[in-house]
Amino acid sequence: MNIILLGPPGAGKGTQAKRLEERHGIVQLSTGDMLRAAVAAGTALGREAKAVMDRGELVPDAVIIGMIDERIGSPDCARGFILDGFPRTAAQAEALDAMLARRGLRLDAVVELAVDEAALVERITGRFTCARCGAGYHDRFKPTAVPGVCDRCGGTEFTRRADDNSETVRTRLDAYRTQTAPILPYYRQHGLLHPVDGMAAMDEVAAAIDRVLAAVAPAGDSR
Ligand code: AMP
Repeated sequence: MNIILLGPPGAGKGTQAKRLEERHGIVQLSTGDMLRAAVAAGTALGREAKAVMDRGELVPDAVIIGMIDERIGSPDCARGFILDGFPRTAAQAEALDAMLARRGLRLDAVVELAVDEAALVERITGRFTCARCGAGYHDRFKPTAVPGVCDRCGGTEFTRRADDNSETVRTRLDAYRTQTAPILPYYRQHGLLHPVDGMAAMDEVAAAIDRVLAAVAPAGDSR
């Protein structure tokens, strides 16, 4: 099953992608995570991408397309993948079509997490992650049970993304509105777009996504 999770920053793409990964055994491919790993490793790509990401702008298409093209051919993607944060421009959507066609693959669904933009800034600026196990939290919506201690692994160090501040979030939302949202009609025309209410509780969003996937790729179809 090959799916795209589309939606503005803070819509819950990463959270839902991780849940899908656990439930369906398909791989989450997050271009944001790949870029952050390159930044942390200090590679040439990471150094180039960091300034762009810190401004909340989009990294050049060619860089991103190359990263995904390399990744979807890996053996761990054979059962399927969840694209999280890609494509984000029309050029990326076209390149994705071409790379899937070249490999004889196709998309099963594009799930749009529809959210109220006014809620996004608060959702994004409150996010933090356990530095040890990567569990995600939120100051207001999902705090740790014991302050300063990770529920999952007991870790006491947490990180916040450099671009999760209110100024950068505005630029990221603008990038979504002007460069990413225009690709939605393309997937709608192809009958692939499935809007899901991203303002609902996390479990409800997950259930709604499962209903979409059950309809487009019935159980047993592990393509
Ligand atoms: P994300 O974790 O998906 O919110 O991505 C964080 C940042 O990485 C974005 O604000 C962009 O600067 C960059 N980025 C991630 N995915 C893409 C993409 N598909 N195209 C361009 N830039 C991207």
